[in-house]
Amino acid sequence: MTIQSFHPPVRTLMGPGPSTVNPRILEAMSRPTLGHLDPVFVTMMDEMKVMLRYAFNTNNELTMPVSAPGSAGMEMCFVNLVEPGDKVIVCQNGVFGGRMKENVERSGGSAVMVEDAWGTAVDPDKLRAALQANPDAKVVAFVHAETSTGAISDAKTIAALAHEHGCLVIADTVTSLAGSPLLVDEWELDAVYSGTQKCLSCVPGLSPVTFSKAAIERVTTRKSKVQSWFLDLNLILGYWGGGSKRAYHHTAPVNTLYALHEALVILQEEGLENSWARHQKNHNALRAGFEAMGLQFVVPEGERLPQLNAVSVPEGVDEAAVRSILLKEYNLEIGAGLGAMAGKIWRVGLMGYASSQTNVLFCLGALDAVLSSMRAPIISGVAVDAARAVYK
Ligand SMILES: *Cc1c(COP(=O)(O)O)cnc(C)c1O
Repeated sequence: MTIQSFHPPVRTLMGPGPSTVNPRILEAMSRPTLGHLDPVFVTMMDEMKVMLRYAFNTNNELTMPVSAPGSAGMEMCFVNLVEPGDKVIVCQNGVFGGRMKENVERSGGSAVMVEDAWGTAVDPDKLRAALQANPDAKVVAFVHAETSTGAISDAKTIAALAHEHGCLVIADTVTSLAGSPLLVDEWELDAVYSGTQKCLSCVPGLSPVTFSKAAIERVTTRKSKVQSWFLDLNLILGYWGGGSKRAYHHTAPVNTLYALHEALVILQEEGLENSWARHQKNHNALRAGFEAMGLQFVVPEGERLPQLNAVSVPEGVDEAAVRSILLKEYNLEIGAGLGAMAGKIWRVGLMGYASSQTNVLFCLGALDAVLSSMRAPIISGVAVDAARAVYK
C-alpha cells in the first residue's frame, strides 16, 4: 500500500478547542520559512510582542509566545515561580486546577487546595480563609475561564486578595484571551499564560505568556535552578528578550509564529472590545436556542463563559451517539463532558472565528434534528427561531 497525502475533512469545530482556524491564518502559515535569527523574522517577533501586549491589556516587557501548547505555558509559570518547599494556594473548580496542583508538586512545592463545585466560579471567601490559614503561602493560582465546565471567575478580586497577603498570582487565561474581558495590568496578574487554539482561532501549539516585574524578580532571585531547562525564563530571555543580541535557545516554530502574528493582526482589525462583544452576542443567541429546546445550562447565570457553553444532556439520550452523528453527517464537532461530568453534559464552544451567527444557527439546527430523530425529550423546531430573534 502506498500511503497518500493526508487530506482532512473540513469540520466546523465547536468544541472546547481547537476552534476552527481562520483561513487567513492557514494561508499565513504556508509562507516561506525563515531562519529563526533572520533580522526580518526578528522584526516580526517584535511586532508580535506588541500585539500580544494589546491582547493581554498589559505593558509587561516580558510578553511572548512559548514554543509549545497552553499546557507548556502553564508549566512555565509554575516551574519558574515555585521553588522547592514553597506553599502555593490552588483554586480548583474543574479539570485545569487539578493540573495546577500537579505542577506545584512536581516543582517541589506543596499545594493547598481551595475547592469549589465544578460548574461554579471560584469563591473569593474560601480563598480569603485559605490565605489567612496559610500566611506562609507564596503564590495563588487559579483558572480564569474553566473550559471543562464553562465557568468564569472574578480574576480581579482573586488577585487583590492574593496581593493583600503578599502572594504572587498565576492565572490560566487559555480560554479567556480574546473571548472575555482580560485586563492583566489593571487586575495585577503576575504570571499569565494562554493558548493560541481557543479564542484566537490560531493553530494549536503556542502559548502566549506575560510576566509582571514582581514575577520576573521572583525568577531572577531564585535560590535553586529552574528544574526545566527548556522552560527556564532566565535562558529564554536571551532569545525573546529585547535588543539585537539574540542568542540561539531553540529553533522557534517559525511558521506557527507566522500564524499567531496573523491571528493577532486579525484581532487588532476587529478590536479587542468588539471581539469580546461578538462572543457575548453569539452566546446570547445560542443560549436562547438551547433554552427554547429545553436544554439546561450547567453554570449559574452570571458565571457563564460566552465562549464555552456547557448544557446537560436530556434524559435517556446517549450523548456520544449524538456527537458521533453530528461529526459524521454534519462535519460538526462539539465537546463531551470531562471527569465527573462525562456522559452528562455537552460543551459547545463559540471561540474566535467559530463564534459566528452562521455557526450558532447551524449547530442549533443540527442538534434539533438529531435529537428529534432520536425522540429525545426536547421541544423540537423552535431553537433556530429563538436564536434568530436575538440577532434581529
Ligand atoms: C485548553 C486549555 C489548556 C491547555 O492548553 P493546550 O493547548 O491544550 O495545552 C489549559 N487550560 C485551560 C483552561 C484550557 O482550556
